[in-house]
Amino acid sequence: MQPDTTGPRYTATEPRGDSDLQMIPRWSIVLAMMVFTAVQYLFHFVLPHHRPDMLPMRLLMGYSWGTALASYVLLVGYVSRDVKRRNMSARLWTLLVVVMPGGIGAVVYFLLRQPVLTNCPNCSVQLASGYHFCPQCQFQLAPVCGRCFRGVQITDIYCTQCGHDLAKDHTPPRLRAYQE
Ligand SMILES: [Zn+2]
Ligand SMILES: [Zn+2]
Repeated sequence: MQPDTTGPRYTATEPRGDSDLQMIPRWSIVLAMMVFTAVQYLFHFVLPHHRPDMLPMRLLMGYSWGTALASYVLLVGYVSRDVKRRNMSARLWTLLVVVMPGGIGAVVYFLLRQPVLTNCPNCSVQLASGYHFCPQCQFQLAPVCGRCFRGVQITDIYCTQCGHDLAKDHTPPRLRAYQE
């Protein structure tokens, strides 16, 4: 059993509308479609084609280049928005992802990005994910064992770390976080 199982479940307190698909801003979707169209135009109307038997090749090249560049635009859009909820420099990281060739900037970004920040529901100080209690006001953010204060699942009856009977806690800690 993992020592800390509350990490991913903490997303329950995150504001709604935070799913990864909604993290792609509209401007980058529009730009991606424009880029795809522009690549098709480039391959079929701008580039000279003397040999009509090369048409399948041209279709394939236009499609793959268009898809690759459009995905790249979407990726930049995602990073430019994702970086803000992690308290990282938006300008620096968006620039890095745009400038580094072949998506290397994006790989570096996904390796180095900080955890998503949320706000304490009680005092609205900024918190990293995985906290059990707010460091400023002691507000309980995740269900914890009443004896060892390690994280527990809301469905647990006994603490997986110390075997404590969670029902014996004054207000069962597995429920206290969800009372409000
Ligand atoms: Zn707080
Ligand atoms: Zn315990």
